[in-house]
This record gives sequence, structure tokens and C-alpha cells, in this order.
Amino acid sequence: MKTLLWLRDDLRLQDNPALAAAAAAGEIAVVYLLDEESPGIRPLGGAARWWLHHSLESLATTLAEAGGSLILRRGRAAEAIPGLAREIGAEAVFWNRRYGGAERQVDAQLKSALRTAGLQVASFQANLLFEPWTMQTGTGGHYKVFTPFWRACREAAEPRPPVAEPGRIRGISAAGDELAAWQLLPRNPDWASEFSGIWTPGEPGAQRRLAEFLDRNAQAYAVGRDEPGLEATSRLSPHLRFGELSPFQIWSALQGSPGIAAEDERTFRSEVGWREFCWHLLYHHPDLADRNYRSDFDAFAWQPASDAELAAWQQGNTGYPLVDAGMRQLWQTGWMHNRVRMVVASFLVKNLLIDWRAGEQWFWDTLVDADAASNPANWQWVAGSGADAAPYFRVFNPVTQSKKFDADGKYLRSFLPELAGLPAPVIHEPWKHPTALDEMPLDYPEPLVELGPSRQRALDAYARLRDGN
Ligand code: FAD
Repeated sequence: MKTLLWLRDDLRLQDNPALAAAAAAGEIAVVYLLDEESPGIRPLGGAARWWLHHSLESLATTLAEAGGSLILRRGRAAEAIPGLAREIGAEAVFWNRRYGGAERQVDAQLKSALRTAGLQVASFQANLLFEPWTMQTGTGGHYKVFTPFWRACREAAEPRPPVAEPGRIRGISAAGDELAAWQLLPRNPDWASEFSGIWTPGEPGAQRRLAEFLDRNAQAYAVGRDEPGLEATSRLSPHLRFGELSPFQIWSALQGSPGIAAEDERTFRSEVGWREFCWHLLYHHPDLADRNYRSDFDAFAWQPASDAELAAWQQGNTGYPLVDAGMRQLWQTGWMHNRVRMVVASFLVKNLLIDWRAGEQWFWDTLVDADAASNPANWQWVAGSGADAAPYFRVFNPVTQSKKFDADGKYLRSFLPELAGLPAPVIHEPWKHPTALDEMPLDYPEPLVELGPSRQRALDAYARLRDGN
């Protein structure tokens, strides 16, 4: 049988059920479609476009080594996929499932149109351990709180083992676009110039990253994961985002790594569980990036947008070292440590009282792991408007967080060269130490807002929302 395999956020050959099924059935044409036209599909941000370019380059190589070829097409899925299926004389179209609202609509309509045209269509579970609709509360609703959600997942059937990579693929080729013509890479200026030294997009890079993590960092994950100055987390997020690695592979690799302590393993699995939970929420609330999950927050009195304050936050010029180091890490590397993401998000929505959607959009554009579920769900978690959210009155203090989680200032020094010469206690709040500043004048901004009064302003705004006035 001739099958058209449509790859989306599953850019891998291993543990790819749609690929394995298509290969077992006969010849395969593999397509990646750049669809910026189907209604409701969120265009990729700049950093994710950089990643996609390199990931597709890598996929084309691994596919060619296996006997296949990658066809690149651009356009609206409803026309492009049936068109290509006709062109190659496909009898079947296979894909792995995706879970965003607009994406599901595109896939459902396509499935029915292709079936009407007489083609076999099959979709597979590849990117989530637990299909969102299968996890239901006792009353049949969806989960709104992480802990019972994850407990239910852990009590459900154990995730399947990874699907074997097909051996030799019988590939079908067809004309397609040149990757360069898609212009996914930034130019003038090339703000991603440092990314290549840090990241290796593609399946081999994802496998290497997983192996390194299991060999080294997983051993101290539970305690180390909160310290941004340590390389204690996996940095697998962009690989998972583009499906260069599946959660099933992570699951199974953990089982095969007896050297990892139970506490580290449990904590790491539950972080992967947070990813599942975010997708569970997005599946049930497709407009998570646009609307408050808790509709009472619709009346929240955000400050009228101040371009200057938003720009200071985006550029890492707030005068708070941990916030600024985080925002500069994001700009320079396309990634930010999780604890710092929470701190910078809290600073934006609470101390600056700027609507969380402005921060979510900036992250969407600048993160290599920008994820349609994890990004809005976490922003809403910090803002207090989300499911199972941090209570609004929890305001992260960037100075306390910095002293606690980066005590020696190692993280701050790596992204704030202008503060690099300051000793440890001073570096967390340079404005408080005029002696240090006299000795070494700093090219570093004064704090943008005072922490105490800005925190109080946020709490007052929340109290007005709660009391309905
Ligand atoms: P590890 O600690 O090694 O965790 C392993 C994996 O678990 C991660 O790769 C990720 O897939 C998942 N994970 C861990 N923490 C979370 C979490 N809180 N929510 C969902 N999944 C999680 N993560 C994204 O993948 N994409 C995003 O766009 C994104 N936006 C965020 C925005 C904000 C405001 C915050 C506070 C967090 C956001 N996160 C996002 C979650 C988290 O910060 C990253 O997943 C994590 O930092 C990635 O680094 P890692 O791979 O080393 O994580």
C-alpha cells in the first residue's frame, strides 16, 4: 500500500507509531506542511521557527539514511494534503494526533474528506502518555487540579513501551519546497547566532541530551532543579515540543536507569506530568492563550499597557538582577530556567501589573520550547487566573528568590556582565550597597519599581476583584 505520512510535532523516526504503521504497510511519502493558513492555527514564534528549520534539516538527513525522503510543502492542510495524496496515488494517509483546538478541527475535517474520497485514514497516539479525554474525574468532568490528575494518570494503565523504528523505509519522493525558501531563520539581525552553540535540534540531538541527563544530572534532579546556576534539569523541552523525542521514550529510559534515586525519578516524572496536565487543560479549554481560565479574572484591573515598562522587562533592564538575568538568558539562548520563568512572570503580572497575555506572547516569540499548552497554562498559573493556580497573593520576591536559589550569584554573573565583579551578597540587590557601587560604577539600571509598594498595589487590585468592586 502507498501511504502519505503527514508529520507535524513528531519529527522523529523512533517511537513514531504512524511511521511504523505506514512502513509496515508498504511505500511511504513523508510530508511536512508549513500551514500558516488554516484558521485558528497560531503562527510559530521566531525562536521556534529557528528550531523548526534545523529540526527539519536533521529529519531530512535521518530519513534519507533510512531510505525515505522528506517532502516540504506549504499551504492550507485541507487542500495541500489531499492534493499531495492524489499526486502520489496514495491509498492511505496516516498521522500522529495533535491536541490543540484549531488543529483538531483541521484534522477531523480532513479525515472525513479523505475518507469520502475513498482513502484509508488512521491517527495514532504519539506525543502524550495519556490522551486528554481518557482522564476523567469521578463525575465525568476534566481535571482542574494537578495532584488528582497525576494520581489518576499513575493509577491508569502503564504507558506503552516505545514503538520500534522501522528498518529500511520504501520511500516515495515528490517535488517540494526548498527549506531555505521558507525563511525560518532570522536575518538582519541574526539574533539566534548563539543558539547553535547551545542546542542541537533534531532526533540525534534529543537522544544525546536524554542520555547525558540520565547519566549526569538526573542524579541530583529533585534538589538541583530549582537552582538556575546548575545544569540540573534535562533541557529536553524544545525536543519534546517538536516531538524529536516522545514522553514514552523518556518513561522507558527512566525504567532502564536504576542508578537514579527514587525521589529524583519521581520528581522528574511528575514534571513530565505537568506537561500532560497543560495539554489536558488546553484540550478542554482551546482558548487558553487568549482567555482567563477563571472568568472572574476578566474584570481584573491591569495597568494600561506601558510600553517603557514592558520593554524594560523584555530587554532585561528592570534593575532586578534575577529578572534581568532570566530575560537575557531567554533572548540569548531561547530558553530560561523554570524557577526564573516563574519569577519573571510574577514580576510582570504582579509588580508591573501588566496583563499576563503580553508576557505569554513574548515567551511565545522568544522560547525555542514555546508550547501551545505549557506556555499559557503556566502564565495563567503564575497570574492566578488559571487552573490549580498559585494564589494571587503569592508574589515572588526576585531578591529573596535570587538569594535563595542562586546564593553565590553564579547564574546572575553569566548573564549580567556589568554585575559580574560584585561579590555574592551585593549582587542580588546592587542598589543597596553604595560602597560597592562607588568603587565600581555600574552601567546597570535603578530598580524599575519598588517591590513593597508594587506588591501592595497588586494585592489591592486583587482585593477589589475578589470583593467585586
Ligand atoms: P525539566 O525540569 O528537565 O523537566 C522535564 C520536562 O517536563 C520538560 O522538558 C517539560 O516538557 C516538562 N515540564 C517541566 N516543568 C513543566 C511545567 N511547569 N509545565 C509544563 N511542562 C513542564 N515549558 C514548555 O515546554 N514550553 C513553554 O512554552 C513553557 N512556558 C512556560 C512559561 C512560564 C511562565 C513558566 C513558569 C513555565 C513554562 N514552561 C514551559 C515550563 C517549564 O519552565 C519548562 O518546561 C522547563 O523549564 C523546561 O526545561 P527542562 O526541559 O530542563 O525541564
